[in-house]
Amino acid sequence: MRKKILVTGGAGFLGSHLCERLLNDGNEVICLDNYFTGEKSNVVHLLKNPYFELIRHDVTMPFFIEVDEIYNLACPASPIHYQYNPIKTVKTSVMGAINMLGLAKRIKAKILQASTSEVYGDPQIHPQTEDYWGHVNPLGERACYDEGKRAAETLFVNYHKQNKVRIKIMRIFNTYGPRMHPNDGRVVSNFIVQALRNEDITVYGDGSQTRSFCYHTDLIEGMIRLMATGDDFTGPVNVGNPNEFTILELAEKVISLTGSKSKIVFKPLPSDDPIQRQPDITLAKQKLGWEPKVQLDEGLKETIAYFKTIIR
Ligand code: NAD
Ligand code: UDP
Repeated sequence: MRKKILVTGGAGFLGSHLCERLLNDGNEVICLDNYFTGEKSNVVHLLKNPYFELIRHDVTMPFFIEVDEIYNLACPASPIHYQYNPIKTVKTSVMGAINMLGLAKRIKAKILQASTSEVYGDPQIHPQTEDYWGHVNPLGERACYDEGKRAAETLFVNYHKQNKVRIKIMRIFNTYGPRMHPNDGRVVSNFIVQALRNEDITVYGDGSQTRSFCYHTDLIEGMIRLMATGDDFTGPVNVGNPNEFTILELAEKVISLTGSKSKIVFKPLPSDDPIQRQPDITLAKQKLGWEPKVQLDEGLKETIAYFKTIIR
């Protein structure tokens, strides 16, 4: 049956892939975005589909529509973008969650929150399991995002308990792929763009900090599966690729896969930059029957091919 689905942040990197996938699955999609970090160009190819609708709207303002499901992705995800206007980032997470949960309550829609591994902060347990409460500096540079997303989780859980809203909380770990913005500032896009331009590759700190990188197709599959789970399963559930790499290893991989002449240079490590991060995906395997299929080399090759088409 064709469902009517609202995707907030739908013109962003992940949102645009989600809109595409939902349309391909035969649904009607309403994409809502204020174009802060997303772009119309990410979804312009979908406009010819009569079941796709694009609306400029800021989630900090109420929005009314009748839909069956809501995917709440609206929020800048890259540290440089979410730190550009920290108050706005908190508002987007918190007021955005309140507005979308209020809508879900009123129209009895199911709602999924794009939460983040940042709720674990600079984690002291490794790999991270969903029952870990995290290690977040509430006053630091990352707090506007981390605490905003933590407050959003609290709102989701309480709308579920108090108002029986059907919620799904997904903790997304570093995800990459085509349609990341070239100036997005996140590590995969930065390194690929620098390598393709034969510019210095900027490793922050000594590059020994780790991340686990998930390809967008795997992530979107996990998201769709989570939304399809029964009403008794709310999450939170980690979705990410558990294969962990140091940032220096990533830099070397990107240089070798692009055949670049770039040199690695070391820059100061931003404050509160998590030292290590790796998802424990036992719960996702159990509840969603999900695990990632695309490994880093393969995903990087696809992403490099995409950036070659837009970088000169
Ligand atoms: P992105 O920046 O490409 O997408 C975010 C989208 O939200 C953009 O289109 C932006 O314009 C829109 N947006 C921002 N503020 C808004 C507002 N106030 N009103 C309406 N739209 C607004 O980032 P992404 O990587 O696609 O991330 C999507 C979601 O997934 C975010 O909520 C992010 O926190 C979460 N997430 C992503 C990752 C990742 O590695 N990609 C990891 C953890 C969590
Ligand atoms: N990083 C880096 N060089 C860059 C961009 C990022 O060394 O040009 C590092 C950053 O300090 C962090 C990791 O790469 O340790 C991942 O950064 P990103 O901004 O992609 O996401 P995060 O997981 O930190 O939110």
